[in-house]
Amino acid sequence: MLKRCELCPRKCRVDRTKGEVGFCRLSDDVVMNSAFPHYGEEPPLSGTRGAGTIFLSSCNLRCSYCQNYQISHDIQGERLDVEGLSRTMLHLQDKLCHNIEPVTPTPHVPRLIQALIMARQKGLRLPFVYNCGGYEDPDVIGMLDGMVDIYLPDFKYGNSEDALTFSGVDDYHTYALASLREMVRQVGDSLETEGGVALRGVLVRHLVLPGSVANSFAVLEMIREKVSRRVPLSIMAQYTPIPAVSAHPLLSRRITRAEYESVVNRALDLGFENIFTQAVDERALTPDFERDEPFNW
Ligand code: SF4
Repeated sequence: MLKRCELCPRKCRVDRTKGEVGFCRLSDDVVMNSAFPHYGEEPPLSGTRGAGTIFLSSCNLRCSYCQNYQISHDIQGERLDVEGLSRTMLHLQDKLCHNIEPVTPTPHVPRLIQALIMARQKGLRLPFVYNCGGYEDPDVIGMLDGMVDIYLPDFKYGNSEDALTFSGVDDYHTYALASLREMVRQVGDSLETEGGVALRGVLVRHLVLPGSVANSFAVLEMIREKVSRRVPLSIMAQYTPIPAVSAHPLLSRRITRAEYESVVNRALDLGFENIFTQAVDERALTPDFERDEPFNW
């Protein structure tokens, strides 16, 4: 797959094993920024002992406002082989994390799955969480059938305009929708938990952007009409402008309480049954990957 890379809808078709690079600028190594128990994910993922996050570097989308821009716009971190990555997974299990959650796995997926198989053979028992940006190829998601326990995709845009303006692609919603349908086919349209901790299923994240309530409504309506109203949603209020958009006419402010509440109310009106919400406040939840502990908990 890395010899003619079509791992995401960009389909760069470069030979990453020979050092050719496509949009994500990754060769065939995995580049990991950090791995640690994460206490700031949704409660079923963080539980009491943390989600076992593995922050991978680079991204196949690179949104202009990305909250993780230090590691998604840049390639920063340690190059790992499959064995190193499998050791990282087992280390997170030793730390008693509730799951293994690679973040932005899409460009790394062949090595990740090799590492997951190796770690499983060495005793990894935790659920495997696929925390992705939603710009996925449904055929690649189809190949993960039986390997992923919990899908945690973003669904960022419901229209082409916002996707093109903020992420440089106009077909985001087409791929995000087809991929979500495949994820739901594999693991169902709900989130199975035990003792409040997620074991299997799906949870869709949507970050509300300033001045973009219509986009959020379009996302909700699409999931309601084309997938299921049982799909659990995490409607996120934590958008914080990064330096690159500090002068942008729309993206230079946080969202208002009125914007957030109108999106949550729309989800309720559409009949969604499981919604995770966040407080609209001034807390800075944007990570700083220059620090040893990127998040403030
Ligand atoms: S994973 Fe990277 S190289 Fe492969 S298609 Fe996507 S952006 Fe291009």
